[in-house]
Amino acid sequence: MTNSAPLQYVSTRGAAPALDFGDVLLTGLATDGGLYVPAEWPPLPDTARAADLSYAELARAVMYPFVEGVIASDDFGRLVADAYATFHHEEVIPFREIGPDHWLMELFWGPTLAFKDVALQLVGRLFDHELTARSERRTIVGATSGDTGSAAIAACRDRPCLDVFILFPEGRVSEVQRRQMTTVDAANVHCVEIRGTFDDCQDLVKAMFGDESFRSEQQLGAVNSINWARVMAQVVYYVWAGRRFGELEKPVSFSVPTGNFGNVFAGEVARRMGVPVGQFIVASNRNDILTQFFGDGSMTIGEVHPTLSPSMDIQVSSNLERLLFELLGRDGVAMAEFMARFRGEGHVGLEAEQFALTSEHWTGASVDDAGTSATIARYYADQGYLLDPHTAVGVQAAERCRRDTGVPLITLATAHPAKFPDAVEAATGVRPELPPHLADLHTRAERYVTLDNDLATVSRYVAENR
Ligand SMILES: *Cc1c(COP(=O)(O)O)cnc(C)c1O
Repeated sequence: MTNSAPLQYVSTRGAAPALDFGDVLLTGLATDGGLYVPAEWPPLPDTARAADLSYAELARAVMYPFVEGVIASDDFGRLVADAYATFHHEEVIPFREIGPDHWLMELFWGPTLAFKDVALQLVGRLFDHELTARSERRTIVGATSGDTGSAAIAACRDRPCLDVFILFPEGRVSEVQRRQMTTVDAANVHCVEIRGTFDDCQDLVKAMFGDESFRSEQQLGAVNSINWARVMAQVVYYVWAGRRFGELEKPVSFSVPTGNFGNVFAGEVARRMGVPVGQFIVASNRNDILTQFFGDGSMTIGEVHPTLSPSMDIQVSSNLERLLFELLGRDGVAMAEFMARFRGEGHVGLEAEQFALTSEHWTGASVDDAGTSATIARYYADQGYLLDPHTAVGVQAAERCRRDTGVPLITLATAHPAKFPDAVEAATGVRPELPPHLADLHTRAERYVTLDNDLATVSRYVAENR
């Protein structure tokens, strides 16, 4: 087993070279514009079926087939153990019963209170490991409207091979979100407030990556949600739930608050590895292009509407491409045509027989802000439990779309309520408290610069401070 050839990864658009895990980790987007996926789905290893595994032990077992031949088993085990030792709950990812056969899977016990820590705490360490082996460095540059920035900073801080620059829009991230970024006291962390919108921040990042010479001189790198390693790390908790509620033999269903589709696609990977799954409920807020897609197989680009669940305010979910690739029979040419039509015409649809492949497992549902607030209020009144607005979207979608009673249903709790205190307080009258490790967040010193929305200014700042 130990000497088997590394798993190869192929692009969903079929025209980029196949790579091993180390290159996929550092590359992100494929050169043909596609996303990397394993050339075949490995079965769940027997080690993942052993009794009494801790979360970190299970994580090591489930992910090892994806990195085997690139990262030594003991090194990988150490990176995984370190990543999950940062979580503030002894079970790492605990469950809580909220109704008959309905459970929350609390993914928010990491350093920044959102599920993105589950993947990024590991990905930061994997970057550092791989770059050290190659004697290379990377300058991670990203834009954030809230959660991703703090999780990326927490993942990259103090890592010798990395600098991290996070651009965020002036006045448009919450106080908690800004302070989670700006109060991190690490020399390699650079928070940049931009006099502009989130779209301006994203455009600046795209322009820096689009400039080939700047990109290579500054050794730019990204940890965005299309990175395969992020999806890989999220597969583990679907196996964790499958073990707990179905012994990996009986089906379990999932309701997933969805934005870029990375989280719920990780569930599909677990299913393809052999975890029995009944239903995936893809829960959206008012930005409901995925509800349309799972309703009739079509997608129409629309405007993005701001909602109470801002981390799901997305219209084009980049990781959906990984599911589409499977529905199109792994045909990269067809995939490239499909995406070109979508971008060109703003509308695209699956053929009937391709769409039929989604009917067994997939259901889309959209929950508006009124429904979100009502759900937060109801669970507080009935159970004294505070749901964050993203989780509340998932809970209401679960209640509405559940197909089989008797199959355990797991709703993924993607953020701690204290991360979105205004929405929670408006719904319940109660302001959720920050957990102890962040209790002094509002008195910590902040460190950031404010720059104009100007590419030359921002590029110079990156070049001079990395
Ligand atoms: C990022 C995020 C989501 C959406 O996850 P995707 O993987 O983009 O679908 C949902 N909830 C919270 C709290 C998030 O931070």
